[in-house]
Amino acid sequence: MTSAHIQKVRQRPLLFLDVDGPLIPFGSPAGPSSATAPATATTAPRDQGNPLLARLDPGIGRRLLSLGCHLVWATTWMEEANEVVAPILGLPRLPVLDRPDTGPEEGPRGLHWKTRALVERAEGRPFIWVDDEIGPMDHLWTDAAHPGPSLLHEVDPTRGLTDTDFVALAAWCRSIRPT
Ligand SMILES: [Mg+2]
Repeated sequence: MTSAHIQKVRQRPLLFLDVDGPLIPFGSPAGPSSATAPATATTAPRDQGNPLLARLDPGIGRRLLSLGCHLVWATTWMEEANEVVAPILGLPRLPVLDRPDTGPEEGPRGLHWKTRALVERAEGRPFIWVDDEIGPMDHLWTDAAHPGPSLLHEVDPTRGLTDTDFVALAAWCRSIRPT
């Protein structure tokens, strides 16, 4: 391991954050009958009148910040995450992961569009990816292409980020902290 690489590993982790699913759960107190909600999530107008925004838990922002990571939006909401979601959660304006120019046909089958982009963005620094659409190919790609620590943390989109998720995220952050 080179000294430059050691420097990168010692930096605070990045945390790439999805919106639909982890922050806006698709379930409802009524139960799993609302499992068709994701279709609505991609078609509803994403403005202040979006009823899905009522599903945001304002307390989540503080919990995310307390992890001590550099937060980065990794979501199809793109800059709208800063304009609409961040104020509700009490988050500052965050950097946004760009959608790559490459089409899905240029990666292996099953690779999420975010995976290559966030591995490149991390540049070897430790990172967490919080999403509800992480698959086996994303783990394979990250293991092969990313030399530093990583945590691909899949969230149940019917529930969103829960206490259990935050325990796991905090434990991982502690585990990679230099002693
Ligand atoms: Mg999602």
